[in-house]
Amino acid sequence: MDLPAVPVIEGFAAAFGRAPDGVWHAPGRVNLIGEHTDYNDGFVLPFALSRGVSVAAARRDDGVIEVRSRQAATAVTAPADGPPVVSEGWPAERAWAAYPVGVARVLREHGTGGASLLIDSDLPQGAGLSSSAALECATALALCDLHGVEIDRPALARLAQRAENEQVGMPCGLMDQSASLLCTAGHALMLDCRSGLSSQVPFDPAAAGLALLVVDTRAAHALTGGEYGRRRAECEEAAAALGVEALRDVKDLAGALGTLRDPVLRRRVQHVVTENHRVEASVGLLRAGALPEFGAMLNASHLSLRDQFEVSWPEADAAVDAAVRAGARGGRMVGGGFGGSVIVLTPVSRADGVREAITAAYAKRGWTPPGFLDAVPSPGAQRLS
Ligand code: ADP
Ligand code: MG
Repeated sequence: MDLPAVPVIEGFAAAFGRAPDGVWHAPGRVNLIGEHTDYNDGFVLPFALSRGVSVAAARRDDGVIEVRSRQAATAVTAPADGPPVVSEGWPAERAWAAYPVGVARVLREHGTGGASLLIDSDLPQGAGLSSSAALECATALALCDLHGVEIDRPALARLAQRAENEQVGMPCGLMDQSASLLCTAGHALMLDCRSGLSSQVPFDPAAAGLALLVVDTRAAHALTGGEYGRRRAECEEAAAALGVEALRDVKDLAGALGTLRDPVLRRRVQHVVTENHRVEASVGLLRAGALPEFGAMLNASHLSLRDQFEVSWPEADAAVDAAVRAGARGGRMVGGGFGGSVIVLTPVSRADGVREAITAAYAKRGWTPPGFLDAVPSPGAQRLS
């Protein structure tokens, strides 16, 4: 794991004219199953990717944060102490720095201070692999270590989430930061989004002769903003109509479906309740070492997201369909919907055939060729040097 450290150390020296005090790395993530369950106080099951964000950093004692990124044109210098970044109305070219500066401002209350940071990343941004949380978590670890502040990782995940909520102004849940900080190699992380409690679940596809492919469907998230908000509102409306705090609390699905008059709300409840069951069933299957059977959970999740929650998109449906026909154990859309990626669980022996079948299905329809990433469950955030 010391390979990503080398370019970022050299980059730091070129940018700041001195060696960094250390290098920290935080991974992106893929959520295996549990989609649109997080804001219903339910369960998710992400694992960490080998790709992520590296931060080379040196402590400063002047209370200033200076951030540069190899993926951003503008260097930003700002006080580590200050109001929420979002309230300062930064221009667009500084917007990326709201993530690390926001983390510094939240952690300031816990005793950290200034630093010079150089960021480098091999994660695509805005692709649903959680580059934002990786950036926050690598920065948070660096600031804590540089200033000798000890915060346990579940608490640090909440602080990084707070930075994204309050400083960047993005109302994200706790999954991405928890995955980046708490995941371990060869495991997925079962996270209860209500309590924040999590547990490690063995997930090592390679050991079972399987591969987990991430398929970039190259479809833009044209409708995500509005539709995502609408789904959240529908879930809240259904929970209120059923007299529960969140849809996670629906224990009698048949009774709930009988109570609700609106067919749209019935479909939304059907998805959320059964998706939580699928996460719990998946955990059982993975703990039993039944990885191939887990593929069926992915297929069931996809059908529910397509037909009940109605957030799938044609390129996702085509990818899942082509993959299963070519011998994959299962697949599903991931993320909010209407664009982004699909994951596919396939025997390694069929992986080439699966990739070819998806590519051919796209070519037949005249769509942009899909992209593929072989996702290996990797360690969570750590200090590299
Ligand atoms: P995702 O987390 O799915 O990648 P987000 O929209 O939540 O998508 O976060 C992407 C944003 O995070 C980018 O627009 C940018 O502001 C910031 N970001 C992520 N990685 C980097 C990086 N290496 N350098 C600078 N900014 C980054
Ligand atoms: Mg993000």
